[in-house]
Parts: sequence; structure tokens; C-alpha cells
Amino acid sequence: MTTNKNPFEVARETLRLLAARRIAPTPDHYQTLYNEIAGVKNSDPAPVSATAFPERQLRALAAALPKEAPDQLRLARQLEEALRDGNWEDYKKHLTTFVEDLTGIQRLAWGELISDLLRQWGARHPGLTTARKRESLDHVLTSSSANPENLFNRLQALLRSWGQGREAEAGDSEALPDSEAEAENSSERSEVANPGSNPHRLLGELRELFAFTLETAVATQLHEDPQLLEDAKRLANDIRKARTTEELEAFLSRLKRFAFKLELLAEDHAELRSSLLGLLRLLVENIDQLVIDDHWLQGQIAVVREIIDKPLSQRAIDDAERRLKEVLFKQSQLKAGLNEAKEAIKNMLAGFVDHLADFSDATSDYHDKIAACADKISAANDIGQLETVIADVMRETRNIQMNAQKSRDELRLTQQKVRESEERIRELEHELQETSILVRHDQLTGVLNRRGLEDMFAKEAARADRHEAVLCVGLLDIDNFKKLNDSMGHDAGDKALVHLAQVCRESLRPQDTVARYGGEEFVILLPDTHLGDAEQALARLQRDLTKRFFLHENEKVLITFSAGVTQRRSDDTLATSLKRADEAMYTAKQTGKNRVVSAP
Ligand code: GH3
Ligand code: MG
Ligand code: MG
Repeated sequence: MTTNKNPFEVARETLRLLAARRIAPTPDHYQTLYNEIAGVKNSDPAPVSATAFPERQLRALAAALPKEAPDQLRLARQLEEALRDGNWEDYKKHLTTFVEDLTGIQRLAWGELISDLLRQWGARHPGLTTARKRESLDHVLTSSSANPENLFNRLQALLRSWGQGREAEAGDSEALPDSEAEAENSSERSEVANPGSNPHRLLGELRELFAFTLETAVATQLHEDPQLLEDAKRLANDIRKARTTEELEAFLSRLKRFAFKLELLAEDHAELRSSLLGLLRLLVENIDQLVIDDHWLQGQIAVVREIIDKPLSQRAIDDAERRLKEVLFKQSQLKAGLNEAKEAIKNMLAGFVDHLADFSDATSDYHDKIAACADKISAANDIGQLETVIADVMRETRNIQMNAQKSRDELRLTQQKVRESEERIRELEHELQETSILVRHDQLTGVLNRRGLEDMFAKEAARADRHEAVLCVGLLDIDNFKKLNDSMGHDAGDKALVHLAQVCRESLRPQDTVARYGGEEFVILLPDTHLGDAEQALARLQRDLTKRFFLHENEKVLITFSAGVTQRRSDDTLATSLKRADEAMYTAKQTGKNRVVSAP
């Protein structure tokens, strides 16, 4: 072994020896011989300067590797450094570690992905049937390219969409041009952090929402039109499937036609509704022609009239229905009593007529008998015969007298009974009418309700105008009523409302009006009362309430209220005066409650 370390000399010697020994000139043989001449052991790691470093190829390899993900970038940097140092060992080590890591990650992720798939397959997702899951999974499996990474990403996206209760997303990305699909895959990290950021995903969601709206909001309104219902369902189906621009355009033009048909249907419905309302109005306006005595119907008619005169509101209809039902129930009971009383009179009269007929039979019988007696008298020859005839006459006459007496007594009795029945009928009819007025009263407290208040305000306002008098309006709201309800129960709350209404009625003058405006709010109308006096009247009411406790389970409960009071202006409606009173009441609440505040 030579000690000549000049690489040039070593190289020349190596070539010479290769030829001399007739060894095939392969790189390996060259390397072995070179090492031998340079004095390097073949098993030793080759010293940097001594190793032939294929820099150009390695650099080309490093350049060809992908550099998108951070770990790929890191590898590129490490390889770059190894190349710069001419360090083959480092180069090999970095490359090996990267490949080992990569295999490890991939194996782990597939395992997770599959177990996630199994889990999600069995789980319930709103709006996703197993058939739909199978369909979308098939789609991903058959349409993904041979690239496992691509399949992996698509499967991951599919599972994510299931987890979020959507089904369209995985399908959506499949229809995108490849570059877009890749962009979607590579932006996966940011999507998770900000799921709304991807326009394709948004498009998918929009499409699904559109289909959902067609199926639920639109289709459910169309049971009376099977053709349109079918159209809506088909459109929903189509928008789910539409992927290409042509499909979307076709969908759009069909949607336009559908919208036009819907518009026509809406017009038909509006016309139908207005005809129905017209019919109802006709009925209400002519009800007095249809029933003989409509007094007891007035309240109900007013309720219905009010509903159809205003824009229809479900709340108003429900409210009216509830109150009409109460009134109808009471009236049905009263009417049963009324019918009974009328039936009784009819029976009595029929009985009396029968009796009169008997009586007249008896009288004609009597006349016959008397006539026969008269014949006997004229034919009688001796006084003895006359005696029996006279006895007969006397007996028949007494009978007929007794009969007449009985009839008179019965007649008196019947008259009496008829009078009583008539009285009862009058009472019942009056009650019937009163019940109708009930529609204007609050069922819980018995004071006027909002409707009754409106009527009363109209009356009082007209009266005030006629007499150039003043009218004050007070609005009061119980303090911390929710707390009372919560701590003692709703029933106790109801009783407290009844108590307050009662104290109001007893504490105020008879000409004052008390009305429940809603919930725990009451309105007081104080005719012929100036603002200062009205304020004092409400303050007195507050004092009365502190004296007259509300008793709950033998415990005294103090109820207080805050009130606003205002004087009616000549152009005020109930609403405008209440608005001022309400503002003043709000001030009372804001400034400590249990106060009365006058509106300026
Ligand atoms: P504030 O002092 O500010 O007026 O407070 P509040 O608790 O009185 O007022 P809030 O408006 O918060 O609550 C009113 C409560 O009145 C809520 C509701 O449940 C109750 N309420 C409304 N109507 C009735 C009813 O008819 N009966 C009962 N028991 N409670 C009612
Ligand atoms: Mg309130
Ligand atoms: Mg309150």
C-alpha cells in the first residue's frame, strides 16, 4: 500500500492497477482500488475528502422533491445543508428519517381514518340516511385517482362533512376541476380553523339550504296543489345534484317557472281569503235578520267584527276564540234553562185547555140532564115525583158548581205558574245578554278587559267633550310581580291580581273605571278629575293597599305598584294617552318603584 496521498496520483495509479489486474472498471472496483492506494480501509467511513461525492445527482434529487408541507420544506433545507457541506452521511440520514416518519404517519392516519369511518357509518346524522352515506362513499371511492394521498384526503373530507351533518361536501369537491380540488385539499388546515372560508364549501351549503327550503318551507305549503308539490320536490332533488354550469342554468330556468306558478297560486289564495272574509262580514252584518232575538249575540258579533275589520292576527283570533268559547258554554247552559221554562209553560197551557174541554163536556152534560129534568117536571103528576126530580137537579147543579170552582182554582194556579215561568224566562234572557257582555270583561278579575276599556274610554271621552270636563288616565303596573309569581306560584299571583282589582274598585269612586290592560297592568279612567287629584287618588290607592294586605297561606303579602297618570287631551285616543301614562310609569319604575308619576 502506497502512502502517496496526491489524489491525482492516486487516481492515475488506480486506473493503471485496474488495467494491470484486468479488473472490470466499475465504480465499485474503482472505489475499492482507489481506497487501497490512498491507504483508506474499505470498512471505514470514508473521509469526506476521500469519498467520491455525487453532488450533481444528489442536488438534482433534492430539487425534485416536493416542498409544500412544512416537513417537506424542512427536509429540503437539511439536504441543502448536507450538500453544501458535501456530507453524504447527513444527506442519507435526513432522507431516511423523513421516509421513516412519513411511513409511520401514513400508517397511523389510515388506521384512524378507517376507525373514524366505521364510527361515523354507524352514527346517526340528521338528514343523512345510510343509503345516502353509501352513495357518497361509493362516489369518493370510484372517482378518486390512484393517488392514495388524494383518496385519503377525500375520505377525510367526506367524514368531516358527515360529522357536520352535511352530505354534499365530499361530492362537491369531486366535481371541481383537478387544480381546484387540489387547492381544496392543500388548504385543508385553514378550512378546519375557519370552516366558512372556502367558497366551494359555501356553495355546497347554499345548495343544500336551497334544497331544504324547497322541501320544507315551500313544499309543506302546497298540499292542496299536488303538481306544484311534486315540482318543489323535484327541484330540491335537482339542485342537490347540479354540478356543472349547464345543470345550474337549467335548474335556474325551471326555478323561474316554478316561482311564477307560485305567484299565481299566492294570488288565488289571497282572492280566496278575501272572499271568505267578505262572506263572514256579510254574515256578521246581517245576523239580526237571521235570528229573531239577537241581543244575547251582540258581544260575540262585536268580537268577530273587530277581528275581520283589522289586519288578521293569529293572536287576536286565538284570544277571541278563547273568550267566545267561555261565553258560548255559559250561554248554552242558560239556553237549556230557558227552553225548560218555555216547555213548562206550554205543558201547563195544554193541561189547562184539556181541563176546559172536560169542563165544557161536563157543562153540556149538565144542560142535557137539566133539560131531562125539566121534561120530567112538566110530565110529573104528583109532588112525590117532583121531589126526586128536584133532588136530581140539585145534585147536578152542585156537581157543576164544584167543577166550576175546581176549574177556577186550577185556572188561578196555572196563571200563577205561567207568571212565574215568564219571570224566570225574563231572568234567563237577561243573564244570556249579560253573558254576552262578559266578552268585555276580564275573566280572572271581573274588571273590564282591553275591549271593554276601549268602549268605556270612547264613552267617557265623548262625555268629557260634551260637558267640557276633564278626564284622567292612569296606568299601573305591579312591582316585582315576577318575583311574587316565582316565590309563591302562579295561582298566588292570580289571586294577588284579583285582590288588587278588588281594592281598586272599592277604593276608587263608582264612576271611575278599572280595567285590566294585560298581565299585571291595570288602567284607571278618572272622569271629572284634574291631574293633581288623579295623582292623589292613585297615591291613596297605594296607601289602601298597604293597609289591606293580600293574604297568602295566612301570611300577609304587601303588594305595591308603580303608576303613571296623564290628563286626556282633546285629540287623544286611548293609545296616545296611554303612551304618556306608560312613559310616566316607566319613570316611576326607574326612580325606585311604588310611586305615582304625572306625565307633563
Ligand atoms: P317590575 O317591577 O319592573 O314591573 O317587574 P315585574 O316582575 O313586575 O315585571 P315583569 O314584566 O318582569 O314580570 C311580569 C310578570 O307577570 C311576568 C308574568 O309571568 C306575570 N304575569 C303576567 N300575567 C299574569 C297572570 O295572569 N297571572 C299571573 N300569576 N302572573 C302573570
Ligand atoms: Mg309589566
Ligand atoms: Mg311589573
